[in-house]
Amino acid sequence: MNDREQSDLGWSEVSSADADLAADPSPHGNDVRKENRRPKVNEHRILRLIHDCGPTARADIVRQLGLSAPTVSKVVASLLDAGFLEEVEMPEMQVGRPPKKLRLACEKTQVLGVVIAPGTCWVVSSGLDGELEESRMHKIRTPDTYEGLIAALADQARELMNREGVETLGAGICVPGLVDVSRNLSVLAASVPMIEGRSPTGDLAERLGIECVTLPAKHALCLAQSHFGENRREEDFVLLDFSTGAALGVVNRGRLLKGKNGFAGEVGHITIDPNGARCFCGNRGCLVTVVSDVAVAARVSERLGRYLDIEEVVKLARAGEIDLAGEIREIVYYLSIGLANVINLFNPPTIFLHARIFDLSDDLFPSLLAEVRRRSLRPTFAECRFVRANVNKQQGAVAAILDHLIESWAPRSDTHRRYPALTH
Ligand SMILES: [Zn+2]
Repeated sequence: MNDREQSDLGWSEVSSADADLAADPSPHGNDVRKENRRPKVNEHRILRLIHDCGPTARADIVRQLGLSAPTVSKVVASLLDAGFLEEVEMPEMQVGRPPKKLRLACEKTQVLGVVIAPGTCWVVSSGLDGELEESRMHKIRTPDTYEGLIAALADQARELMNREGVETLGAGICVPGLVDVSRNLSVLAASVPMIEGRSPTGDLAERLGIECVTLPAKHALCLAQSHFGENRREEDFVLLDFSTGAALGVVNRGRLLKGKNGFAGEVGHITIDPNGARCFCGNRGCLVTVVSDVAVAARVSERLGRYLDIEEVVKLARAGEIDLAGEIREIVYYLSIGLANVINLFNPPTIFLHARIFDLSDDLFPSLLAEVRRRSLRPTFAECRFVRANVNKQQGAVAAILDHLIESWAPRSDTHRRYPALTH
């Protein structure tokens, strides 16, 4: 695995000696912020500090990062100019004029997040702080055709972009399945097959006239975890997404492991039962055929003879109106095999789990962990923490464009470590 097969997460420090520009990630749209593509050490440090600590006064930046006041002034000016920061008066309990602080732009700047998924799609907008408000989260039923999908998403996006005095910097698009990152092309999406061979990135960028970037959900969720999650400072983790499909993202030393084309992490297609049900990939008994929100909802629907989505299944199960003992036993059995393999392969300190099936019963998670402990190597299991992911795909889409814009404007070095200089 070399550095070209990985991508950085979050904002971090770069070496000014590393003047080579990062490879153009082939985005689409108008990018006015890409003129000066050189690694910018202090820009990343200041963004990271404000991201982690919230609104910060210039004097505190000088003190915490050990930079000179003129350097901070110059870098802050460029960040304000690029629309990444804004300076606001923060009222405090003191006499006189409130001090000014710098924060991630959210009043005059926004980004869009687009989630393409079976059943329901989302278009949301947020400031660069990633805060999502209900009034700026639009939900639509997933249209039946690709043309209909792009038209509907563009309509919702335009509505969100129509805010006076607010500039939209770009849109992140989160899709199921495999995305060829070098061509921004969806190449496999069993749950939304209409996007296969298409480029929502290019088509939305063309309609909206803004920078767009697409990531598969497994990787977008990792970015969301890194930018907005409660444990956002973790540099090493695995995130497993068992919502519409079953896939994982691996973050190692602050870098996302993408594989040659961006396809890495398809844990859903490890064979879990050689004689099991036929999978859409052509094999039999893949993990994704038995464990995912969609797979479990489908099985319960079949048993009850009526269609239920996972939200309805969870609601009925919590109310004690349906007995899911058989399904839960099956989830624990198959998922524990998958998780034990992941632990043994990657030795992650933390595994974030993203799925609604864990809400089916209070016993499911403890039973699962007991089974994973039994199946995995003891020392590796002992070092691993299991945490429910507290981020969603909307945040993943927002994080995708945020990460992309900052990287386009101020590329990072391939050789840096994340958070090397921050001690708070
Ligand atoms: Zn498969």
